[in-house]
Amino acid sequence: MDAEDMGADLEKVLLSQEQIDTRLTEMAAEIDADYAGRDVLLVGVLRGAVMVMADLSRKLHSPVQMDWMAVSSYGSGTKSSGVVRILKDLDTDLTGRDVLIVEDIIDSGLTLSWLVGNLRSRGPASVEIATLLRKPEAAKVAVDVRYVGFDIPPEFVVGYGLDYGEQYRHLPFVGTLAPHVYGG
Ligand code: 5GP
Ligand code: MG
Ligand code: MG
Repeated sequence: MDAEDMGADLEKVLLSQEQIDTRLTEMAAEIDADYAGRDVLLVGVLRGAVMVMADLSRKLHSPVQMDWMAVSSYGSGTKSSGVVRILKDLDTDLTGRDVLIVEDIIDSGLTLSWLVGNLRSRGPASVEIATLLRKPEAAKVAVDVRYVGFDIPPEFVVGYGLDYGEQYRHLPFVGTLAPHVYGG
């Protein structure tokens, strides 16, 4: 699957497969250095973070475990509701654990600030965040994001795990949609 297969749906490729891969390699090196061989529990937020989790985790040398949470935020639209619900909780006891939340994108940051508070209340040793993408709005929220792949413009993006109406998650790059796709 490449940009051409997307035909008229795609407006442009924002981040190529190569750019993503290079940046994830750098982030993994930072994470390895910071955790210095400690056990890390990677918490992926379904479903968008699946690609980041798969590719980032395979670049880590630290001993890691993985667990997953599903929370509702956007539905099938393009605006955050601010209402967060747990659809699937972790299976892992967080007591004393070094937790690294793995995210696809931070937009309003509402989902994430809620999630950090929720996980902190479970008695972990630490909770940090790694996200592939961050939009400018996120700066307004008081959440310290330790690892950021790319700061991107406030556009709606798809691919590399990110969907629009559950489509486009499988694209190996991050792109923007043509306005006609979302009725713009
Ligand atoms: P926030 O609560 O930070 O506004 O949004 C968090 C979630 O909204 C993300 O995990 C993602 O599922 C969705 N989201 C935010 N911005 C975008 C975007 O540009 N494209 C897509 N596909 N999803 C987004
Ligand atoms: Mg997400
Ligand atoms: Mg979505």
